[in-house]
Amino acid sequence: MRICVYCASSAKIDKVYFDAAERLAAAFAKAGVEVVYGGGAAGLMGVLADTMLKHGGKIKGILPKFMVDVEWEHKGVSDMIMTDTMHERKARFLEDVDALTALPGGCGTLEELLEAITLKRLGQFTKPIVILNTKGYYNPLLEMFEKAVKENFMKDIHLDMWKVVNEPEEVLDAIKNSKPWDKGAINFAAVR
Ligand code: AMP
Repeated sequence: MRICVYCASSAKIDKVYFDAAERLAAAFAKAGVEVVYGGGAAGLMGVLADTMLKHGGKIKGILPKFMVDVEWEHKGVSDMIMTDTMHERKARFLEDVDALTALPGGCGTLEELLEAITLKRLGQFTKPIVILNTKGYYNPLLEMFEKAVKENFMKDIHLDMWKVVNEPEEVLDAIKNSKPWDKGAINFAAVR
């Protein structure tokens, strides 16, 4: 199974977030999961990659050339794909993956997660999406989605597009138990 992981580049965050990223990578390596990620060496991305490598797991980085120019790539990840643009990078994240999971992060992580959810609403991306809600980090976003449904910007069924877990060891089960989704989602994408 190949899983795309979105996560923070910041190194200044609480230790609890680093612990979660480390535990997730350990669980993925043990389960033989191949990780696809942003290719960075900083923050949660760095810990994710370091831990996958430490456990002999498979990890692929995808990052744009301009980040390599400033040496942001993780030097220990040999399977590194360089893209011309951020857009191309985001598209590659979603190619050939069986699921994706978002750990806490800043605007980059939020943008990646929101784009995947938007594509899923339109039936253009159909794989499971799991949000790892360490320390309740994603609660405001989850409340925002509830509000979007309450105010009829989205439908109830759209809340089935992702699963939320609190612990990294729950991610794989959440992926397995995700509601099936297909291209037919386009038929109920709009709220009329
Ligand atoms: P954020 O959640 O805002 O930290 O964003 C994570 C995303 O930010 C990554 O997928 C990259 O697009 C980008 N990014 C920001 N800083 C770095 C860095 N030092 N190394 C690699 N990617 C970075």
